[in-house]
Amino acid sequence: MEEERLMTTGFRDEDADIEQSLRPRTLREYIGQQTVKDSLNIYIEAARKRHDALDHMLLYGPPGLGKTTLACIVAAEMGQNIRITSGPAVERPGDLASILTNLNAGDVLFIDEIHRLSRTVEEVLYPAMEDYALDIMIGKGPSARSIRLDLPRFTLVGATTRAGQLSAPLRDRFGILFRLQLYSTDELAQIVRHSANILKIPVEPEGVREIARRSRGTPRIVNRLLKRVRDFAQVRADGTITYEVAREALNLQEIDELGLDRVDRGMLSTMMDKFGGGPVGLDTLAATTGEDAVTIEDVYEPYLMQLGFIMRTPRGRVCTPAAYAHMRRTPPQPRADGPDQTRLDI
Ligand code: ADP
Repeated sequence: MEEERLMTTGFRDEDADIEQSLRPRTLREYIGQQTVKDSLNIYIEAARKRHDALDHMLLYGPPGLGKTTLACIVAAEMGQNIRITSGPAVERPGDLASILTNLNAGDVLFIDEIHRLSRTVEEVLYPAMEDYALDIMIGKGPSARSIRLDLPRFTLVGATTRAGQLSAPLRDRFGILFRLQLYSTDELAQIVRHSANILKIPVEPEGVREIARRSRGTPRIVNRLLKRVRDFAQVRADGTITYEVAREALNLQEIDELGLDRVDRGMLSTMMDKFGGGPVGLDTLAATTGEDAVTIEDVYEPYLMQLGFIMRTPRGRVCTPAAYAHMRRTPPQPRADGPDQTRLDI
């Protein structure tokens, strides 16, 4: 199901060609995330003055918000190379050992989905991060002994959709932790203008805003929708993205004014029609909608929660009156003896 979904925040093959050309290369070009940029500027300048590698850095937040982009920018700003891999790709401790021993001083090692590293691989990382050393076991059984190899001073940048899934020993070894936020419509509009400029797509300001508004706070989606709307503008109009063109193109894709697609709306209506608006447990929601629980938590929920459409309570997810209004349904009347559905999960 995830593969077919235009609004997924995850990477799709169709993104490959444009993501490379649209990816900002410097912190100045990186739009939004102001507090992250302010701190990074200081850390980078300090590390450069000391002629040292930057501290290890953990980036967390939903997919498509710019974690990989930021890692590449950090390497570029430090004047160093980047090596990119991901948790599931590093299967055995030996795989990680060979990556680490091939790094040069100052290099950035980016591990996407770092929470998916196995425990045994993770254990190789601890001394590497802390002491820039690699402990290798030689031989087997009683005669086995461990030798320690020195590694160059490198910077590990880890990315994860949820910091909570990382083991505590790994999380504690990161000196810098940044949580990336969903982007505002203004910031997404800036990204659309910038991308349209590079791709030479004529856009009108209201067309830009319409695309930004429907991109669920995510740069990856805003660029993907821009491409779709461009195709529509070329076939059904004169090529310029106006408000009407953007609106029609996105309506055709069943993306509504707030950026919700069929899957989001299906999830909300399941909660409303089958569970009286909740509370519904995550696993029950996954089973009844046919979506994966992790995908619901990482991909759908952050935006639905930001819109104030879903709340997490100790007993499960609950739809808010705003969600009912958006779905044009009447919220159920609270029962006088009913559970308190407004208590937030903390
Ligand atoms: P993540 O690693 O968090 O999944 P990426 O770094 O791959 O996300 O970002 C996806 C795309 O979104 C990038 O290729 C880039 O074009 C765009 N993008 C992300 N963040 C920004 C930003 N702050 N400013 C401009 N474009 C961005």
